[in-house]
Amino acid sequence: MPFRPDFGPKPRLGYTQSLIARAAERRNDAAALAALECDAGAGVYLIGGEMIVLKKRETVHEPLFTLAEARALSNSGEIMFLGLIDNCGRFALEPDAAILETLKTRDDLVVTDLRSIAIKGLVEEDHLPPLAEGKALLHWHARHRFCSSCGLPTSLSCGGWRRDCPVCKVQHFPRTDPVVIMLPVAGERCVLGRSYRFQGSMWSCLAGFVEPGETIEDAVRRETLEECGVACGRVAYFATQPWPFPSSLMIGCHAEALSHDIVIDRTELEDARWFDREEVAQMLKRTHPQGLTTPPTVAIAYHIMRAWVEEEIEFR
Ligand SMILES: [Zn+2]
Repeated sequence: MPFRPDFGPKPRLGYTQSLIARAAERRNDAAALAALECDAGAGVYLIGGEMIVLKKRETVHEPLFTLAEARALSNSGEIMFLGLIDNCGRFALEPDAAILETLKTRDDLVVTDLRSIAIKGLVEEDHLPPLAEGKALLHWHARHRFCSSCGLPTSLSCGGWRRDCPVCKVQHFPRTDPVVIMLPVAGERCVLGRSYRFQGSMWSCLAGFVEPGETIEDAVRRETLEECGVACGRVAYFATQPWPFPSSLMIGCHAEALSHDIVIDRTELEDARWFDREEVAQMLKRTHPQGLTTPPTVAIAYHIMRAWVEEEIEFR
């Protein structure tokens, strides 16, 4: 009987299960957007690059500001329409860098990065998807002030879901970058890697950007071969996760490993090796004798690894 531990209820994958209705039909309706902004139920997230501004509370902080509060803290910046929750508008606004520095000094606010917020549970989980949406969207705008066709300044339109060039008339749309993140498996073993930037004794799935003209399956096979020298055959889709660092979509997969020798690309990985199912279970439970761990539960890598340890993900 193969080893199959039970980890109990599954934690929520970070930045997913958004309650936002994107209400794309409102984006082109300036009067409707203005009415939503003025409505008493409107809420604004203040996002400055990696940093999120929170109202300090005893335990779980509050990330939503009224429009008046947001404008009092930051009187500049374009406002982005994220969508609706219970027919109330949700927006994102980026304070400029100097304002953000002054907000960090205030006793009634907490200014911290989104990764820490997610990992430490500093806000209610339902705020993570709109924070991810707003952060990725604002990041795109910050880097598309000028037309990539003719070089002249662009202007915001559609509530933040387009930038228009007034001269050459090209319309620019916010993008997300597909990244494959995969666990190569063979029977009771899988391959994990360690990136140079990983702290402590964490091991994770392999990952890499999907390239133009490439399928997800081919990207999984190419990245696995490049990073650790293992050839893969079949690829099984698992789940996706918005990953706003800065604007990726993580595409989680399991891959059928066809070869066994590991050849590490040291420019990409500090280390990579085979792990058996029981060892990965100990890492997921934080009971590994050498203290090896996996990424936290907000990350899709945790869920990809757990699904393989816990469930029937086999290539037969
Ligand atoms: Zn242009």
